[in-house]
Amino acid sequence: MRKRLLVVLGLVLAMVATLQTGAQAKLPTSGGVCVEHDVGAGFEGRGTRVRDLVEAPKKDPVAKWVRRHGNQADRAADRADRGQAITVPVWFHVIRKDATVAGGNVPTSRINAQMQVLNDSFTGSTGGASTGFRFELQGITRTTNKGWFNLTGGGKDRKIKQALHRGGLETLNIYTAKLGANLLGYAYLASDAEEVGVLDGVVVHFETLPGGAFSIYSEGDTATHEVGHWFDLYHTFDGGCDGGDFVDDTAPEASPAFNCPVGRDTCVGGGVDPITNFMDYTQDSCMFEFTRGQAVRMQQAWSAFRA
Ligand SMILES: [Zn+2]
Repeated sequence: MRKRLLVVLGLVLAMVATLQTGAQAKLPTSGGVCVEHDVGAGFEGRGTRVRDLVEAPKKDPVAKWVRRHGNQADRAADRADRGQAITVPVWFHVIRKDATVAGGNVPTSRINAQMQVLNDSFTGSTGGASTGFRFELQGITRTTNKGWFNLTGGGKDRKIKQALHRGGLETLNIYTAKLGANLLGYAYLASDAEEVGVLDGVVVHFETLPGGAFSIYSEGDTATHEVGHWFDLYHTFDGGCDGGDFVDDTAPEASPAFNCPVGRDTCVGGGVDPITNFMDYTQDSCMFEFTRGQAVRMQQAWSAFRA
């Protein structure tokens, strides 16, 4: 019953969503790629928050690596098929303005729930392909800093990460704070990780963790989406109907889908839009899967840029 209500609500909100314009705001960063977001004018209220907007490059850095490392690329693809071959170490960094949950002090229980969501999503237990990755929490840091908590720009992003970032390219650093401009999260791509150095990692609004206050975006799938970018996945709608996510088994999609528009089909041929894919913009209850093609790409990106 609850799911059906969400779907109906989603359809109504999707109609609103189609009215948005393509205005874009940019969260400034120094160097690297990644953290744009798309906030349409007159597009506010519930169901209007956006995940980041990563634009795929014209030439695929993973494909370039695959061409030069055939055997390694094949082994990476095998890992995707075997499942659970690689454990990624994770550090969680909580930026809070005070000791209250509303002040960003995310309880450890909610962080553990987020870890469970990541593991369920990447091992395929939510219904998608198994990616061959699982995640293990190494530790949690908690930092009280009102200025950092309102994480509105690249300067703060750098300061926070210079202070807190742990491990090397293989370590996933996840930061929680309050993000501005309706932004749910952002991440750096695997193919840029070496170049951006300490900035590498995933940042999510603290209310997106399971049990958070963001309603349709509070089941933890924002982190899953951003970690997809961290493994060098792009959006299912990148490149529109021409397809531009460098993955063959995600149906092309003309534009991001919001809420949960079941049956949406924006491109001729190729099947209905992949609204259930973690790399679209739909609400958490709608997205539940990565494809095998995405799993192979993530494993190859791991070998190319993080292992
Ligand atoms: Zn994204």
